[in-house]
Amino acid sequence: MRGSPRLKNSDHIPALLKRVSHQRIRKDTFCLSKEPLRFRKLNYTIPGRTKTTLDEADDFIAARLASFGYAVGREGCLVQAFRRDLKKNIHHQYSTPHAHDPWHVAWNLSARKVGSTVPEETILLISHKDSMSWIDSPGANDNAIGTAVNLELARVLARYRSRRSFWFLFCNEEHWPWTSVTAARNARLRGEKIIALFNLDGPGVRKPEDREADRMTCFSVYYAPEAERLADLMAEVNRDYALGLVTARHKTDRVNNDDGSFIKEGYRVAVHNIGSMPYADPNYHLEGDVPELCDFASAAATARATLAAAVRLDSE
Ligand SMILES: [Zn+2]
Repeated sequence: MRGSPRLKNSDHIPALLKRVSHQRIRKDTFCLSKEPLRFRKLNYTIPGRTKTTLDEADDFIAARLASFGYAVGREGCLVQAFRRDLKKNIHHQYSTPHAHDPWHVAWNLSARKVGSTVPEETILLISHKDSMSWIDSPGANDNAIGTAVNLELARVLARYRSRRSFWFLFCNEEHWPWTSVTAARNARLRGEKIIALFNLDGPGVRKPEDREADRMTCFSVYYAPEAERLADLMAEVNRDYALGLVTARHKTDRVNNDDGSFIKEGYRVAVHNIGSMPYADPNYHLEGDVPELCDFASAAATARATLAAAVRLDSE
């Protein structure tokens, strides 16, 4: 554990934090979940268009990354849409596809910046970009907003001279199998040294009592003991830079989500930053998960805390 606070005049973090824009996160979330995109799934194409809505979302994300100066990497994975099972709880009405259901190519999109002095060590920021394949949900909180946060961090860090390498990964977790599984396996096969991983999935969603009390919240969910210090670091930077969040760490005994795909490949220093735990969105996995209901201020504060934590790790 490190002592705190340890802010110095040479600290680059405050200037980076100032560049994080709540308005950009809002704008990108609306673009991805309302207009022009609405859905991001491989089994839905807007009538009169040629590409699926997920392929259109990929074009949007890739164009944004290219505009920040990144070369965009693509990794193709075969996936199927989940089936809908009306017998299940309304928030979990998906079931495994059948073997004869159509297969589609889903892409992992990557932007990377190479570190200046320790390029072999990587800090990974990951978010799933697809919406629910079994239902027509805009998936604004899950996870257009996490995608928008990840894009914003890629933008803010584009010209920052980091010591280590940064990898911004946009994957798919609402189709089957999750494409983070392929990304994680290939990272291990390449021998990639990922020193820390932040999953941005559902940032900003607050419990009703926190919303009413105007408390912005971020839970850092971790599985492995090695990741505890990452969760602590989120709390530490929130305090040091007065980011205004109520942070909490949450130890889970279940390897899950896109960070879980990496944990299974041995990348255990991983946290999932989420607005509430248990997840408090009443529209979770439903048609009502629309951007008008997103908490952009809380998501932007989580973006700042994630940025500060990642840059502090980088400068260690
Ligand atoms: Zn999600």
